[in-house]
Amino acid sequence: MKNGKVAVLSGDGIGPEVMEQAMAVLKAAEGRFGFQLEYTRADVGGIAIDNHGKALPDSTVEICRASDAILFGSVGGPKWESLPPAEQPERAALLPLRKIFGLYANLRPAKCYQQLIHASPVKNEIIPHGFDILVVRELTGGLYFGQPKQTVKTETGERAVDTMVYETGEIERVAHVAFRAAQKRSKKVAVVDKANVLECGQLWRRTCKAIAPQYPDVAVEFIYVDNAAMQVVRNPAHYDVMLCENTFGDIISDEVAAVAGSLGMLPSASLAEGTFGLYEPSGGTAPDIAGKGIANPIAQILSAALMLRFSFAMDEAAVAIEQAVEKVIASGLRTGDIFSAGTTKVGTAEMGAAIAAAV
Ligand code: NAD
Repeated sequence: MKNGKVAVLSGDGIGPEVMEQAMAVLKAAEGRFGFQLEYTRADVGGIAIDNHGKALPDSTVEICRASDAILFGSVGGPKWESLPPAEQPERAALLPLRKIFGLYANLRPAKCYQQLIHASPVKNEIIPHGFDILVVRELTGGLYFGQPKQTVKTETGERAVDTMVYETGEIERVAHVAFRAAQKRSKKVAVVDKANVLECGQLWRRTCKAIAPQYPDVAVEFIYVDNAAMQVVRNPAHYDVMLCENTFGDIISDEVAAVAGSLGMLPSASLAEGTFGLYEPSGGTAPDIAGKGIANPIAQILSAALMLRFSFAMDEAAVAIEQAVEKVIASGLRTGDIFSAGTTKVGTAEMGAAIAAAV
């Protein structure tokens, strides 16, 4: 798609700072590859509470509906933490967006660059060349949404019930996302489940086994989630795509992000049927460094690259941005979160400008 519309929702904290750099990199990509996207900004999160009285104003939803993709910053911060849970920026903005737009597949790439292995908490000899894992998480089913979901009083206290429920179709659609992604990467999918204990795990395993022959070039393995939690620390470089149901994916994706070492580097994509998606950094609003011009803009910039790939089918431009990031890292520029001796410390704007120039 040469033209398209993007809703730009920067949010709070470092959101606007890193978004500005992502926009500069998109401009550079537009110049190089000859496309033109139309960007419409809208309030979301804490700033939307301040300006419109709620974290996801109707006007913002309308702008998103009129767009082909949402480029999202992050939301929340100390100013809004005393609000009732249901009104808090994250819960009141992101969860409804997932629901309204049917964002069922969450992609969390966690790439640990060879030059940045020092930032990983695992022993560097385990990952001499870094690693590159993509966690694909089912986002709209399973334990977080299954019914019944309730707490009732009993004679001795209370009884809480959550229900894990999946249907074949829900598993199939996210499995196809994972297999297709693997085809463009190292052609391996690890299906993470708990098939030894859970009925849902059995269904995940059966369904993925049935789909696998459609992707003869992709090697599939099945791994219990408890073992997966250990293996991504012991040997992360073994993994390419890890496909998880909702709850397991929530946990494994954060674990893999932590093993990769630098939250400021990690983008994410949440995809709907078709090409619509929401793209955002894996980290939050980083209130501790907001406003100082030192946040790492790379997660936001790589989120923009994912947007070009998945919502606008501009893989070439996406790859160019990813390669520009690698080039700038290789040249030794570092924001504070990934700084090490012998490299050059820069701020948000300089990092963004260097990546835009490399594109
Ligand atoms: P956080 O991700 O904001 O920060 C954790 C640590 O990582 C901090 O030390 C921060 O400085 C650092 N960090 C994160 N992104 C960075 C970047 N780009 N460059 C450099 N350093 C970076 O998590 P938190 O402190 O738990 O949460 C802060 C706020 O963000 C909370 O209000 C939380 O609700 C919100 N939050 C929002 C989202 C979202 O919008 N999707 C996600 C997580 C947290």
